[in-house]
Parts: sequence; structure tokens; C-alpha cells
Amino acid sequence: MPTLSARAALTALHLEHPEWRPLLAIVEEAMREAQRPEWGRVVPALGHAGRDGRPLLDGAVISIAPGFVGRWVRRLLRTAAGAGTDVRPLVTALAARHIDPLVVFEVAVTQDGPRLDDLARAVGDDHGILRGLAPLIGRPMLQACRRAWAPRVPEVWAYGHCPICGGWPAVAEIRGLGGSRHLRCGACGSDWRTEWLRCSFCGQDAHEQLGSLVSPERLDRETIAVCDGCHGYVKTITTLAPIRPEDVTLQDLGTLVLDVVALERGYSRPARTGRGVAVSVVAARSRLRDLLGRRP
Ligand SMILES: [Zn+2]
Ligand SMILES: [Zn+2]
Repeated sequence: MPTLSARAALTALHLEHPEWRPLLAIVEEAMREAQRPEWGRVVPALGHAGRDGRPLLDGAVISIAPGFVGRWVRRLLRTAAGAGTDVRPLVTALAARHIDPLVVFEVAVTQDGPRLDDLARAVGDDHGILRGLAPLIGRPMLQACRRAWAPRVPEVWAYGHCPICGGWPAVAEIRGLGGSRHLRCGACGSDWRTEWLRCSFCGQDAHEQLGSLVSPERLDRETIAVCDGCHGYVKTITTLAPIRPEDVTLQDLGTLVLDVVALERGYSRPARTGRGVAVSVVAARSRLRDLLGRRP
């Protein structure tokens, strides 16, 4: 089940934005799935120490039972269908074995936009449904990696992309009385400290290129850090305690009004993911099948 604070945030979002119910139903399903201990058991061994900005996920080999992944992908599609999303092209392609759930899962975990688009074209998904669902398909795996690997993230991480999965930050947090600035990844939930005056996307640190926008209704707690070098922006939230890793996406959704302000002023989130990662997903051999196979 989602945590108590996540539950409160979801309830608030349901009330504030009844039109988001279909989206929230799918987000909630992914949050529930991410709590399952099975995901922790398939976190791959770390192959490197994350030097030179290389995300820990890069180069990982995830060995996972195809049935487990297939059930998860189909459950998410059922939830999406129940919420009114037309997922028929994907359901049909999976049922006819035109696409392999392990491939869908691999592309989702790497957050590889061009590969996602190729896959969508191959199954006749013309409405960007796969692009929309992929982050949620990969989420339980990425959250499990973050839980296992957070202590292994290099102490100093002076990059804009996530040290674990390579994604761009969903939000920045100005935290506590000291006001340290942290970037937060929505995909895996990770948390890394960053400098105040530096663009997360292009590394720009010339102060005349960096600015801040405020939303009239949310002056005190929420602002938008913008960069005139790359026209990127990061929503910035002042917090007393860290946002829980599982709740970063909800904070992102709950501050959509700031995205609107940024977009209206000509800023946008980068279209491509932060630092691309290569991941191989391979079918784990079923222990049961091994046992049966060894029977005399
Ligand atoms: Zn991440
Ligand atoms: Zn920039």
C-alpha cells in the first residue's frame, strides 16, 4: 500500500483535480507494486562505483522471471484500460507475442525515448500510450535499485542527472533550516545535493543566465529555477524534512501549476533523458523448472 503521506497526497490530488483520476489510478498501481519485496530480490549486483557521472544503473544485467514481468505489465495495462486509456494495441501485441514483455520492461527501465518510440510504432500505438506508461512500468525496479544502492552513491555528485538511474530531476528541494539544495528523481526517488547557482541540465553557472520564477499563488514555498542558456527549468520546493522517495512523483504532480507558469514563459523540461544508460534484461531460469528438469 502507498505510505500514509502518499495516501494523503493522493487524496488531495483526487480532490483538487478530479480530471486526473485515470492518471492517478495508474500512478497508484505503480506505487503499490513498488512496495512488493519481490523487486528487491532482482536488484542486480553493482558493476562499478559511479565515477565520472556514470549512473549506477548503467551496465546492469537484470535477471528476472518473464512471468513476473509479464504479470506486472499486464496488470498495469488492465488498470490503464479500467481508467479509460485505450491500451488495445499494446494488449493485442502482447497477446499475439509481437512484443516481448521483457523488452518492454528493459526499454522502460532505461527510459530510452527513441527506443520507446520504435516499439510504439511497431505495435501501432499512435497515441503515445507506451511513452506515457513506460515510466510507471519501470518504476518498481528503479525504486528497488534506489533502496539497495542509495548508500553506494558517490558522496559528491556534481551532475544534474540522477546518480542511480540517469534521469533528470523531477523537482529540487530547499531543505531544512540550513537551506541546502537537493535534486530529486521522480523515477527512482533518489536524492543528491547540488549547488545553488548551477543549471541542472547544461551546467551553466553564470548568474546572469540563471533566474527564478514565482507563481503568484505559491510565493512562499515554491519557485521555479530557470536557465536562459538552455531554457530548462526545475521546480523548487522548500521543505522541512526530505520528501519521501516514493512521494517525489506526487509532489511533481501536485505542483503542475508551476509547470504551466514555466511553459508560458518559454521554458521546458529537456525532451531527452539525462544520461542514457544501457541495461540488459535477461530471463531468469525458473527454479521450479530446474527442479522438475532434474527429476529422474
Ligand atoms: Zn533516478
Ligand atoms: Zn541550462
